[in-house]
Amino acid sequence: MCAAIMATKFPEAPKVGMVSLGCPKNLVDSERILTKLRSDGYQMSADYAGADVVLVNTCGFLDSAKEESLEAIGEAIAENGRVIVTGCMGDEADLIRAKFPQVLAVTGAHQYEQVVNAVHDASPPIPNAFVDLVPEGGLKLTPRHYSYLKISEGCNHRCSFCIIPSIRGDLVSRRIDAVLREAEKLVAAGTRELLVISQDTSAYGVDTRHEPRMWKGREVRAHMTDMARELGQLRTLDGRAPWVRLHYVYPYPHVDQVIPLMADGLLTPYLDIPFQHAAPSVLKAMKRPANEAKVLDRIHKWRAICPDITIRSTFVVGFPGETEADFQYLLDWLDEAQLDRVGAFRFEPVEGAAANDLPGAVPEAVKEDRYQRIMEKTAAISAAKLQAKVGRTLPVILDEVGEPDDEDGSIGATARSQADAPEIDGNVFLRDVGEGRQAGDMIDVLIEDADEHDLYGVPL
Ligand code: SF4
Repeated sequence: MCAAIMATKFPEAPKVGMVSLGCPKNLVDSERILTKLRSDGYQMSADYAGADVVLVNTCGFLDSAKEESLEAIGEAIAENGRVIVTGCMGDEADLIRAKFPQVLAVTGAHQYEQVVNAVHDASPPIPNAFVDLVPEGGLKLTPRHYSYLKISEGCNHRCSFCIIPSIRGDLVSRRIDAVLREAEKLVAAGTRELLVISQDTSAYGVDTRHEPRMWKGREVRAHMTDMARELGQLRTLDGRAPWVRLHYVYPYPHVDQVIPLMADGLLTPYLDIPFQHAAPSVLKAMKRPANEAKVLDRIHKWRAICPDITIRSTFVVGFPGETEADFQYLLDWLDEAQLDRVGAFRFEPVEGAAANDLPGAVPEAVKEDRYQRIMEKTAAISAAKLQAKVGRTLPVILDEVGEPDDEDGSIGATARSQADAPEIDGNVFLRDVGEGRQAGDMIDVLIEDADEHDLYGVPL
């Protein structure tokens, strides 16, 4: 007897394309939007041609980012024609509509519901569609082995060069149990490295008075230290402690409490602290939070407790009113601080920022000169620090494994040590990793060589 085979024809689910611009925080927003759309029955399209509607998640932080966002909107309209704009530039709906009247909808940053509704209007979901289950941990735009964990939105500070508080509002912290649940799911789904992000990670929970919640039978506060301790208890499927990296930390006094967690291996020994400058008068004009004179002493103390700590930072040169003496102060401070990783930017006015009205604009040529000098100084510090790692054994995470070499069959890989955050820091380039390795593997390697930003090694 032969069974009759019935072909069931399901209607095709509408497809959504996504262009995600800007910082990791925006990437997390894109992931949330896509996760919701996927659970509503939408499919994703990797190209313009296959999409029924294209979402452009914009960044409006710097004028150059706005330009890039407008270009991306223009490209999406030219290539597809059915475009919804969201993200930071959503606050400038009039400008976008004036330039691109055919845009279907414009929604602002974090307006998840509005953007999802706009997609429903533009391309309605199929009722009762048979949809794929959304994977555990949501949809991710980063590789499976690392994930961004956003703990709050907005910011209570008013740095004079920044317009984020006017775009994203004051600090709103997520509940600690929600953060920890998301982290646990991500790790269960294969994440080996969690990157904690926000505008000001040290201020987490200030707005909720560090409201405690029950987690695993105990009370945990919405506070950076409690969160770090709990994240340090997570274990990957093969029983390892995932790397947990703290980004955008301001040096408030309680940061001292997380350094012992790093020394104990509960937290990755890495702090991303955007100092932006060191000269007191410039920091004052910038209105930077936790701007205090003793920070150098504290850096020395942190290194005494956790000698392997990597400190990354960013600096702005050519801020209005910055004198040659202020800049020299910064260079001397860097000599003393010996920061491991440094990014530098030439000051660029951002429309709507208070700093634009400050006196003492620095000429472009002077900015450029200072930029070159700070890059030279920090590259030399970085080279010396990396050179000191030659001969050591370090744990790394593999990001990408190459194909066997045509001649001798050897396989190389690109990896990162605990001192390297993805996308922004250096790499560990490996030779002879052998067969069977894959992205996300955590292995120990011998460091054989170093240059200004990267290390070179071989698995043990
Ligand atoms: S801390 Fe300052 S630079 Fe950072 S988001 Fe808040 S206002 Fe902007």
